[in-house]
Amino acid sequence: MAETLLIGNGTVFTLGATGQVIPDGGVLIEGDCIVDVGPTAALAKRASKQIDAGGRLIMPGLICAHHHLYSTFACGIAGEPASNFVEVLEKLWWKLDRALDLEDVYYSALIPLARCIRSGTTTILDHHASPNAIAGSLGRIGDAVSEAGIRASLCYEVTDRNGMDGAQAGLDESADWLDRCGAATDGMLHGLVGVHAAMTVGEETLAACVALAKQYDTGLHIHVAEDQADQDDSLQKYGKRVIARLDDHGGLGPKTLAIHCVHIDDDEIARLAKTGTVVVHNPQSNMNNAVGCANVPGLLAKGIPVCLGTDGMTSNMLEEARASLFIRHHVATDPASGFGETVTMLFENNAALASACFGRKLGVLEQGAGADVIVVDHIPFTPATPDNVYGQLLFGAAAERVVTTVCAGKVLMRDGKLETLDMARIARETAQRSPQTWDRFQAL
Ligand SMILES: [Zn+2]
Repeated sequence: MAETLLIGNGTVFTLGATGQVIPDGGVLIEGDCIVDVGPTAALAKRASKQIDAGGRLIMPGLICAHHHLYSTFACGIAGEPASNFVEVLEKLWWKLDRALDLEDVYYSALIPLARCIRSGTTTILDHHASPNAIAGSLGRIGDAVSEAGIRASLCYEVTDRNGMDGAQAGLDESADWLDRCGAATDGMLHGLVGVHAAMTVGEETLAACVALAKQYDTGLHIHVAEDQADQDDSLQKYGKRVIARLDDHGGLGPKTLAIHCVHIDDDEIARLAKTGTVVVHNPQSNMNNAVGCANVPGLLAKGIPVCLGTDGMTSNMLEEARASLFIRHHVATDPASGFGETVTMLFENNAALASACFGRKLGVLEQGAGADVIVVDHIPFTPATPDNVYGQLLFGAAAERVVTTVCAGKVLMRDGKLETLDMARIARETAQRSPQTWDRFQAL
């Protein structure tokens, strides 16, 4: 008989279309797949191993639709003050990414990957840049991802800002990664073609990115109109707005992720809707960079699948979801707004996006879905019903620790202890590297 793992004796929130709440419930896993969900007593007879949730909340692993693992070394860095978004790029991110060597790339991935596991995030879509260590960079991140044990879609951000050789190196790295993903069969790795933003790619490079995405039957992962500067650049150089330019290149579609979309007009919204392009909202980053806030309700009303990401600000999706709720309350000056859109983004659209990328049902606890399951140290203290699970999550579970994380049937953290990564060792080794990385940053 195949080995089966029961995560039981908890309150199960299945999420998904049925949205069940199962008191004293459990999830039965065989290999990397959920084989049943139901009352613990019924499932226990079929389990060869068991994790006792102790009455806590059992729910699907969370999904981050836009991350930057490489942002790790920015923590505490002494950068020059920036007076606008372009200066944030020039004075912080474009100096930091140039300071990274290949081992920095690896270590900068391990830290947020450990944080993903500790906050129950079992799938991420990452966007990477390291202009002085391009070749092999996605492979090193892939190594870290495989050690951690979560699912990851990776891409290298192609850009002309480091010259045409740099752009070509980014394209080559993208192709290498997509080849590796094509050879993988375990549903853990995925690739997109990264583009920094329309404002840093000329026509030739943008065309090459779209061609590469089509060659591999994948999409672009590109920052779009995060700040008005992206639109001003596009109008000045090409006489059209950013999304019209991407559309004219054939770069939109259901496999393309347009990140941010803060400064877009009605024509651009119509093009996103017509092509089924995915938009990713990152509220904490938008607030931190003071660039504004995407019109998420307007995008959702047009049928655009808007997802939720963190832009590297955090790996904790329940924290990001609360930021999504609060920024909408603040922008709309309406306490009744934001809740439904946040639920749609994180629990419906992120699940659909991850399922499409990794070729199996994710973000839900049901028979046949990928076995990505977390236990949150939240014992519901008010009645938990199918009608209020999202309130329970945003105002109850979000304040608590994730204690157990399982991805593809593998236990990555048990009772608060990481099983695949040694956080103390990783932090110690990263601390040994970071002074040299900061010295290179300051010298640029
Ligand atoms: Zn980003």
